[in-house]
Amino acid sequence: MNYRHAYHAGHICDVVKHATLALLIAYMQRKEKGFALLDTHAGYGLYDLHDEKAQKTKESEAGIVPLWKTFGGEDGLEPPELLAAYLRCLKNLNPDGELRFYAGSPFLARQMLRPQDRLIACEAHPDDFAALRRTVLPEADRKNVQLHHRDGYAALKAFLPFAEKRGLILIDPPYEKPDEVDALLKALMLINERAPQVTVAIWYPVKDRPTLWSFHERLREAKLGEVLIAEFLFQPELRADRLNGTGFAFVNPPFILQEQLTALFPLLHQTLETGMGAEGSILTML
Ligand code: SAM
Repeated sequence: MNYRHAYHAGHICDVVKHATLALLIAYMQRKEKGFALLDTHAGYGLYDLHDEKAQKTKESEAGIVPLWKTFGGEDGLEPPELLAAYLRCLKNLNPDGELRFYAGSPFLARQMLRPQDRLIACEAHPDDFAALRRTVLPEADRKNVQLHHRDGYAALKAFLPFAEKRGLILIDPPYEKPDEVDALLKALMLINERAPQVTVAIWYPVKDRPTLWSFHERLREAKLGEVLIAEFLFQPELRADRLNGTGFAFVNPPFILQEQLTALFPLLHQTLETGMGAEGSILTML
């Protein structure tokens, strides 16, 4: 396991991913009844953009930094509703208006959780798990936050079906292993068997198109119910060996999600200055 998310915190992929996650959580919270959120690949939880890993790559400079310049800080514009919950979390972390700390998925989720909701976060890397405990655990003695040093795919077997009956699962693996898509498909079949009603958000990198066609085809063949594909491209797909965009496959997406992302993606393209407009977004039901 070589992947360390600290090198990539606040990158465009993180901004799109976390803004979307905040929308999914807010949707689940439209109902009073609590829900469970399982984050299978949680990472650290909280990132210091001044530390040497983040400074080495400076990936946040094309991601959260321009978004913060527009909507964060003391002189920032009022954020649009679609970004409000996500940016509120970052403002809580950076109360003096200077952007330094960036929230990973479990930290964002923990901030948004109501007492009746529950977060289960899994992280397999020992150092990252220790960091996750340090950053997310101070409040994790709250009964509704459970952190596990374990394999996120195996956790699905242990935690499904959720007692709450309402659930959201984020699967955000590092794609280091050549058989990651096999593991994903296996996980989706298990979810479909044990908790067919939950919403699943699978993050994936947009690199070479034929690999993605085959991934989408396998999703289609798995007959999982409704699947929404959402891709945010931040550069033209001229080369297959570099990261051209950030993708999501949602199983059982909320009915408003497609509409929300159709509005969110152009807004992010404009704010992050990707040089692409609506043509840099792909939203389609499989
Ligand atoms: N979800 C995080 C976020 O949005 O802030 C980022 C997660 S990062 C892309 C992937 C994480 O998965 C890494 O921290 C890595 O150590 C961890 N990981 C890799 N294989 C895993 C596995 N089988 N189970 C759980 N975690 C794993």
